[in-house]
Amino acid sequence: MVEFRTIKGTHDLLPETLKFWKTIQFEITNIMEQYGYDEIRTPTFENTELFIRGIGTETDIVNKEMYSWVDQAGDTLTLKPELTAPIARAYVQNQLGNKHPLHRLYYFDTLFRRERPQKGRQRQFYQFGAEAIGSYKPEQDAEIISMAYHIYKNFNIKDMSVRLNSIGSPEIRVKYLDLLKNNLEKHIGDLCENCNKRLQKNALRIFDCKNQICQDLFDDRAPLIFDSISYEDSQHFDSITCILDAMDIPFKHDKKLVRGLDYYSHTTFEITSKTLGAQDALCGGGRYNNLIEKIGGKSTPAVGFAAGVERLILAIDKIKAIESTPDIYFITISEEASIIAFKLANTIRKKCNKKVILETLGRSLKAQLREANRMDVKHVVIIGEEELEKNMGTIKNMATSDQVQISFTDMVNFFNQ
Ligand code: AMP
Repeated sequence: MVEFRTIKGTHDLLPETLKFWKTIQFEITNIMEQYGYDEIRTPTFENTELFIRGIGTETDIVNKEMYSWVDQAGDTLTLKPELTAPIARAYVQNQLGNKHPLHRLYYFDTLFRRERPQKGRQRQFYQFGAEAIGSYKPEQDAEIISMAYHIYKNFNIKDMSVRLNSIGSPEIRVKYLDLLKNNLEKHIGDLCENCNKRLQKNALRIFDCKNQICQDLFDDRAPLIFDSISYEDSQHFDSITCILDAMDIPFKHDKKLVRGLDYYSHTTFEITSKTLGAQDALCGGGRYNNLIEKIGGKSTPAVGFAAGVERLILAIDKIKAIESTPDIYFITISEEASIIAFKLANTIRKKCNKKVILETLGRSLKAQLREANRMDVKHVVIIGEEELEKNMGTIKNMATSDQVQISFTDMVNFFNQ
């Protein structure tokens, strides 16, 4: 019986798995850097009020999914359930807007949401994403969408689809929501319980409902927000689609894609893959022109996306992990030999940039050779009785079985060739 286990919805990342994760992380961040994005890191917890004000009270995240507590000083804190509000907070606090008109930022980070765990849905999970802060232009939306698309293409994700919509500016939303409620009022009895609740509190979110009866009813009866947006906003949308067309990025205009968080305005998009099953969203994003002002900064336009790492890994067919086998294994059978090996290993790591393993289990020569074989090391350096007497080490090339004896003082030069 194991006494302590990971908490429900959390998981260990063991070294074998992490090798893949590191390869994936490297490729993702490399692509984002190619687009001119710089990494940003924010603390693991923030004031709860930041999320309440940023994400909105009538959202699942704020209503029921946040890990919040009151600390010893009486401050109400929350483990971050998303990254856009913390990055907007960092932007305001560090006055980034005064330093440059446009900031392209990316992250690869851990998030916490108390959701019902299932395949592709955890309570602690990883996201990568990007936020471009400072531009109103459709080119910026197109850059964000194409970068996300490019990342998934890089991993050959199958059955991928990009859905795109515009929910216009917040000014039209009040009028539109009245219209929506008026149209659906007569059908309240036909809608599921969840939709009924959402209709009262966060009506836009009804479109996220998975119930087919509700969806059929929306198709018949619900006015769509895209049909209410202004001429400028629809031009903004058209310009994005022109750039995506020019880049051969296939997308579907999905007028029901609204995304549930309060801070979204204008563009919303999602990339999904059928290979994922029920939790098919690889990433989601959009514009949030009002968030920065809402949390106390100057009005600043912004657009971004957030993507689940676990989902990406589920969708990836095959990927070769970056394997880094050790270069050298020092085989030692006495304390004296061990001390010499420790000193040599340090110099070789520093001067030759090699991965060097030392023996710390006190195994026999034969067992150490077996271990070196298992690790697939390139060279072993044996320091036995005879070697100690001669002040030399026996270097064996494990691929060719060639052996040479090299003095301890020349060893760094040997591995530097
Ligand atoms: P969101 O921040 O809710 O828009 O989510 C963005 C992306 O993060 C989703 O498309 C998923 O890929 C991923 N994601 C969201 N919630 C979870 C979760 N609980 N567990 C794993 N991945 C998640």
